Amino acid sequence: MIAVIGAGAAGVTTAARLLERGAAVCLVDPAEERGRGVAYRTDDPRHLLNVPAGKMSAREDDPGDFARWAGVAAADFVPRRVFGAYLAAHLDGVSARHPGRLRVVRDRATRIGHDAGAVRISLAAGDFLLADAAVLALGAVGTRDDWVPTDTPDSAAFVPDPWAPGALERIRDDRDVVLVGTGLTAVDLAMTLGRPGRVVHAVSRTGLLPRRHRPAQPMRPPELAGCTGLDDVRRVVSAHVRESLRRHGDWRPALDSLRPVTARLWDLLPLPDRSRFLAEDLRSWEVHRHRMPGTTARTLVRLRRAGELRTHRTGVTGVRMVPGGVVLRLGDGTELTAGTVVNCTGVRHDVRRCPDPLVAGLLADGHATPGPLGLGFDTLPDGRVRGGAPLWTLGALRRGNLWETTAFPEIRAQAAAVARSVTSALGVPC
Ligand SMILES: Cc1cc2nc3c(=O)[nH]c(=O)nc-3n(C[C@H](O)[C@H](O)[C@H](O)COP(=O)(O)OP(=O)(O)OC[C@H]3O[C@@H](n4cnc5c(N)ncnc54)[C@H](O)[C@@H]3O)c2cc1C
Repeated sequence: MIAVIGAGAAGVTTAARLLERGAAVCLVDPAEERGRGVAYRTDDPRHLLNVPAGKMSAREDDPGDFARWAGVAAADFVPRRVFGAYLAAHLDGVSARHPGRLRVVRDRATRIGHDAGAVRISLAAGDFLLADAAVLALGAVGTRDDWVPTDTPDSAAFVPDPWAPGALERIRDDRDVVLVGTGLTAVDLAMTLGRPGRVVHAVSRTGLLPRRHRPAQPMRPPELAGCTGLDDVRRVVSAHVRESLRRHGDWRPALDSLRPVTARLWDLLPLPDRSRFLAEDLRSWEVHRHRMPGTTARTLVRLRRAGELRTHRTGVTGVRMVPGGVVLRLGDGTELTAGTVVNCTGVRHDVRRCPDPLVAGLLADGHATPGPLGLGFDTLPDGRVRGGAPLWTLGALRRGNLWETTAFPEIRAQAAAVARSVTSALGVPC
């Protein structure tokens, strides 16, 4: 039996591929619904997928599966909750074709041990499971909150994780809101919270919002021969973008053409160059690579024109809770007063600082080692976790090795590869 820990997009897709390869699977997650995870549990219909439906099929060999299931065109951007429902239906369908092989355990895994060829998984409720192998599909392990002063008291006016169940229900209707961060999470919250009579402030050091999607012509990736460091990569990518602008009048074809070579680009960077990329290029990469749908961009333009959304290009230097709200001191010397401040700075990928007992235990017991720069676990190309135990992983926990590893098209490919690798390592007959 193979334990899949986590039933978000990665866990559900891996479980489906394992069932198809003849394995018995135990899917472990405390969440009530399978396939939703953090990204697809939102019920707000304005929270759209940031990838068109035609690229979100659970099956690599049938790219139209999701669009057909949802009854939409391949180019459409669909509410994220629809995609969560699709993933659950996908697993149900596969499980029905392979009856009696899927077990679901609604609990949290707290520790993993390895002895005499078996993996022992301790569960929060006090029970344990024995498996031949485990796949860690945990998603990102915590939110980034390095801007929050350590003496900030617990308060209803501070939302540390907007995707925690019920988090947005604490936000008072009659007061302004500050979002710290201007990425896709801040965009989602502006969609939900923006309204007449309220100003949503979005603050970040760059003040940059994600760029919008536009239909893009396919383009071949650039030639990477001779690239040995960040300066080479910057030169090659800049030339490729100029070529894209010349040929298509748009930078998007060049950016999109990097997808199949991103892991190779990341891999060829020496560690100091990867750190330099994170310090100097990360935000620009994110706003161009992880874009928002056109309908979302149009709503933001309307909110900004109405004065209901304001972006601020500066850091946060202080946070003061006051009766009924919060005051933020900004790096430009101004202050913002609001009813609530919401942390939208994204996820934390450094496992060395992760308080989660499962992750911390795996590192402490030597079943896993941190990946490059501490980003996730160190993994082999097939997703196996370096450390000797029969453990595999996919998604955010492979960031140190692959860099771009969290969007569903990448996760889908990894799920198929992990299923192949686990079943062949265990000798499961297909
Ligand atoms: C807000 C948001 C929007 C996004 N939108 C898109 C999009 O439109 N398109 C796209 O391609 N990508 C999108 N992404 C990227 C997203 O990361 C992936 O598409 C995908 O959802 C990641 O799935 P996952 O299963 O790896 O992680 P998650 O969805 O985070 O699922 C992890 C699961 O593991 C469970 N878990 C964690 N620890 C344990 C434990 N110890 N024991 C048991 N269970 C555990 C959690 O309960 C959770 O259900 C978005 C991400 C976010 C955060």
